[in-house]
Amino acid sequence: MLNIVIFGAPGSGKGTQSELIIKEFGLDHISTGDVLRAELKAESELGKIANDYITKGQLVPDELIIDMLAKVLDSKKVSKGVIFDGFPRTIPQAEALKKMLNERGTDVTLMINLHVDEEELINRLLERGKRSGRSDDNIDTIKSRLEVYHSQTAPLAEYYIKEGKHHAIEGVGTIEDIFGLIKEQINATING
Ligand code: AMP
Repeated sequence: MLNIVIFGAPGSGKGTQSELIIKEFGLDHISTGDVLRAELKAESELGKIANDYITKGQLVPDELIIDMLAKVLDSKKVSKGVIFDGFPRTIPQAEALKKMLNERGTDVTLMINLHVDEEELINRLLERGKRSGRSDDNIDTIKSRLEVYHSQTAPLAEYYIKEGKHHAIEGVGTIEDIFGLIKEQINATING
């Protein structure tokens, strides 16, 4: 199995690069943000609870997210592996992911950390906000999301460094060039 955690601040290009990785390596895609937005659209209980956090730019509580991820994972017939996009975002989520994958006889293969500077992130998210219709792509929520990223999510890099799975990639340039670097890293890890 090839299980990839795609990591980075909001606006770093996780979703865009995930699509290219999926095409190239035939992986399943789990984006917790997408799952939450689908729950919201379906007006489920989880969707309603999550919406309060999403519109404030805060993280949905770990236990809700971990439980949701386990259900999504069980509902998929994964063959080659999964790309985890927007999960984990906290240390408890990373520990839960490891446990879940270990129980299924697999593990995280590598973590790709996309680096993009703050000004570029804000510009990209504001630009996306014009098209996405997302309630959280506005300047106030973007600022909260970036703060939450720095305080709660960025420390996860250390966790994956300790696991020997962390790979930093410069996330600025053309989509194809960035993907080229990612592909190289994935192939280097596979062929280890
Ligand atoms: P995203 O589409 O990944 O930018 O996620 C949008 C919003 O969904 C985030 O700002 C959080 O409110 C929520 N969310 C998505 N994934 C997670 C997660 N792994 N843990 C907690 N909250 C999450």
